[in-house]
Amino acid sequence: ETIGANLDAAIAQFGDREALVDVASGRRWTYAELGTAVDEVALGLMAKGVGKGDRVGIWAINCPEWVLVQYATARIGAIMVNINPAYRVHELRYVLEQAGIHVLVSSIEHKTSDYRRMVEQVRADCKALRDVVYIGAPTWDGLVRAGASVPPERLAERQARLSCDDPVNIQYTSGTTGFPKGATLSHHNVLNNGFFVGEMVGYTEKDRVCVPVPFYHCFGMVMGNLGVTSHGACVVIPAPTFDPVATLHAVERERCTSLYGVPTMFIAELNLPDFATYDLSTLRTGIMAGSPCPVEVMRRVVAEMHMDEVAIAYGMTETSPVSTQTRVDDDLERRTATVGRVMPHIEIKVVDPAMGVIVPRGEPGELCTRGYSVMLGYWEEPERTAEVIDAARWMHTGDLAVMRDDGYVQIVGRIKDMIIRGGENVYPREIEEFLYSHPKIADVQVVGVPDEKYGEEIAACVILRDSANPLTRDELARFCRGRLAHYKVPRYLRLVESFPMTVSGKVRKVELREEVARALV
Ligand code: ATP
Ligand code: MG
Repeated sequence: ETIGANLDAAIAQFGDREALVDVASGRRWTYAELGTAVDEVALGLMAKGVGKGDRVGIWAINCPEWVLVQYATARIGAIMVNINPAYRVHELRYVLEQAGIHVLVSSIEHKTSDYRRMVEQVRADCKALRDVVYIGAPTWDGLVRAGASVPPERLAERQARLSCDDPVNIQYTSGTTGFPKGATLSHHNVLNNGFFVGEMVGYTEKDRVCVPVPFYHCFGMVMGNLGVTSHGACVVIPAPTFDPVATLHAVERERCTSLYGVPTMFIAELNLPDFATYDLSTLRTGIMAGSPCPVEVMRRVVAEMHMDEVAIAYGMTETSPVSTQTRVDDDLERRTATVGRVMPHIEIKVVDPAMGVIVPRGEPGELCTRGYSVMLGYWEEPERTAEVIDAARWMHTGDLAVMRDDGYVQIVGRIKDMIIRGGENVYPREIEEFLYSHPKIADVQVVGVPDEKYGEEIAACVILRDSANPLTRDELARFCRGRLAHYKVPRYLRLVESFPMTVSGKVRKVELREEVARALV
C-alpha cells in the first residue's frame, strides 16, 4: 500500500475525527479536512510540474504545512527530501545539490534562523531548483491557488499508478558522527514501520499523540505522523521547536494520551520548576528513543507522567527507523536496560564486527538488521551503501549490542564511541549510567581522550544540578571507588553548561571529544 492509499483509508474510516492540531496557531483538521488540504498542496505541486520521482525539499520547523507537504508529495509520487532546520547556508547548498531538489518548501524565519535569506543566497547556484515556496507567505497561497487549475482526476490517476516500492523520502541521518547521509526510503519502508510502531503501543482512533520531536527526523515523520495517521489517531504539534513548557501545556490542553521525546526532552520537562502543576493524567503511553534513557528518568516518566505503557525504541534512519521496541507491559528493568526486542517481520543478529560471525548471547558485537525496513540505499552514493548493506541485505548498524537470553537487546554504544583504555574496552554508557546517580550531577557524558600511556583516557563531562555547588575530581573519584572497576574511573572531569547536540536531540560525542582533548593541552 502507498502512503496516499493508506491516508485515503483513514479518511474513509475516520473522516470526522481529528487528525491534526497545531497548538501554537490553534488550527485543527479532521481527517476529511486533512485530505482536502493535502490534495490542494498535491495539485499545486503538480501545477508546478513536479513529476514522479522529482525531489521536493522541505526545510522547516514543525508546523501543519510540513505534514501537508509530507502527504502531498507521497500522493504524487515525488520524493520528499527532509532538510535539517538547524542547517546553515553551506549545508543547505550541499543537500539541495546532492539530492537535486526541484522545488523547495521553506519556513521564512524562526528565532536565529533567517531561512529566507539563506535560501535566496544559494538559490541561483542550484541548477535543478526551479521554485521556492515559503510557508505563510504569498508563495504558499500561490501554490494552493495554482492547484485549482489541475483536474483532481489527474491526481487520483497519478496516485493509482504508484508502487509501494517507489522511493518516497530522502531522509538525512542526524549527523552525529559526521556529515549526514541521505537514506532513500520507499512507501513500503516507512509506512509499515510507522504502522507497527503505533500498533505496538496500541494506537486507536481515540489516541492523541503529542509530537515535540522535529518532523525533519524519522522520529517525527515516521513514528510520529505515519505511526499516528495509519491508526486514525491525532497528531498534536505543541510548538515549532522543542519547548518543555509548551509540550506539557499541549498535553494538558489537548488531553494527549501519548508523548514522544528523546531522553533529554523528558529530562527538561521533569526538571521544570512548575512540573507538578500540569495535569498529565490523560497520558497512557509514549515513545522514547534516539539515545539511552537513564533509569531514574524512566522511573519518573512512568510514575509522575503516568506513562505506564511508555515504549523504548531503537533504530536508525537507514532502517525506517525502528528495529527493536519494548512492549507495553514490559517492566522497568526491560525499559531501561534494554531497547526491547525485534519488531515484527524484521530479523536481527549480533556479530563480531571483524569476522562477521554471530557472537554468543550475552557478548557484545555489532547489531545487524534485515527485512522490509532496510532502506533502498544512500541517495546516489552506491559505495557508501555497499559499506553498510551487505550482499545478503543485512544492514550493519555501527552500534554495539548484546542479545540477552530473553531476546531483549541491549545497546552498548556506538562502535565509534567505544573507549579502548590500556587494552580494555570501556563503554561510555555504563559509566554515564553510574555517574547519573550522583546527587550533584544533572547530566553527564563520558568520552575517550588520547593518552600516551594508555592509548585513551576517560573524561567525564558533567552538567551540574546547581552551579553554586560544584563537584571536584577527588569527590568524583571517591564516589566511584569500590563501585566501578578502577580502569573505568574517569581520569578527567570537566564541568560544562551544555553538550553539543544535533537537532534530533543527540549528543555529538565526536565534537565533545575534540573539545575535551583541546582543553587538556
Ligand atoms: P549519523 O549516522 O549521521 O552519524 P545518527 O546515527 O545519530 O547520525 P540517526 O539515524 O538519527 O543518525 O540515529 C541512529 C542512531 O541513534 C543509532 O545508530 C544509535 O546509535 C542511536 N540510537 C537510536 N535509538 C537508540 C536507543 N534507544 N538507545 C541508544 N541509542 C539509540
Ligand atoms: Mg548513523
